[in-house]
Amino acid sequence: MAFNPIARGLSGLAERVAAPAIERPTLAQTVAARQRFFGVDAVDPDTGSVRADQAILTWFGCASFAVALGGTVLLLDAWVPRGVTSGYVPTTPTEVAALRPAAIFIGHGHFDHAADAGPIAQASGAVLYGTAEHCATARKQISESPEFPCEELGSASSLPGDRYDFELAEGLSVTAIRHIHSAPTSRHEGPDASDRVIPTPCVGDIRRYPPSLADAAHLARRLTDPEGGVLLYQFRTEHFTLTWHDSSGPLLDKAPEVVDVLRTLPASDVHVGAVQGYNQFFNGLRDPRTYIEALRPKVFVPNHHDNWLPLITARGEAFETPLGTELARIPGGPKLQMLLDPKDYVAPGRLAFSIRPHT
Ligand SMILES: [Zn+2]
Repeated sequence: MAFNPIARGLSGLAERVAAPAIERPTLAQTVAARQRFFGVDAVDPDTGSVRADQAILTWFGCASFAVALGGTVLLLDAWVPRGVTSGYVPTTPTEVAALRPAAIFIGHGHFDHAADAGPIAQASGAVLYGTAEHCATARKQISESPEFPCEELGSASSLPGDRYDFELAEGLSVTAIRHIHSAPTSRHEGPDASDRVIPTPCVGDIRRYPPSLADAAHLARRLTDPEGGVLLYQFRTEHFTLTWHDSSGPLLDKAPEVVDVLRTLPASDVHVGAVQGYNQFFNGLRDPRTYIEALRPKVFVPNHHDNWLPLITARGEAFETPLGTELARIPGGPKLQMLLDPKDYVAPGRLAFSIRPHT
């Protein structure tokens, strides 16, 4: 979601406070960052390589995760939430770049998903994946000449349900599916209806974590970055399937063809999906449930439900009960692995899964 009216309160700041570039990290910084994000035991202290027998997902706010999957380090989205607050998420783009991800996958181009993508890719040497517009936005985010590669998966005008398949590393395959952004639809009644979810904004975190000028300027600069299309990603190793998306659109109403495509994918071991969206005020968590029903996960992890912009958002605890209720409606539905802010930010081991064969 992006909230342009806030730009008025921040106008002018972006021009007055320059964005600092991120230095290329040293090996020692990479070892330290990986140990902090993935756990000391998961990282070789000499080489920085991560253990290959697990999928470790570490949340750093909104829909952004650092992932160690089968020995490869990835980012899903690239934004450290800040601007209305500072320090609520206990990391920085510099530390995230020090993770030296091999690849960064952008779900869509709004600031709350991609505002740090360009600087992190530039400093870390990661390959960016997204639509042509996501690539263009990321290049515009840095003042030096962009040197990072960006693999284009369609463009803003691609069609919902379009599919892209590729190998990221030996034994790690990726499927990207074009879907749609969250949006309000008219209220549904009847047996498929879901109760509205309307949390009270948790503005107290602005007082507890007051914003620095630099962070407010960062937000002001990136507020109007365009969506540029929305992509869902599935990552597969031989025995493990992870699916992630950073928005949940009203597929049943506006893109039922996407539901059909999602059903053709292998069932997910872990599904990390956006639960906050514009339709929660009209149709509750019906849209996230549509994705869950189509992806058939064993475990569901919510994202985009935290206090990433406290003028309009609340802490994730506001979603715990409605989400549990929604999942309970799915016959044979997934186990809920809740994430709560701020305690589950940069909490190594909170989401760690064996990727070995199930016995
Ligand atoms: Zn958005």
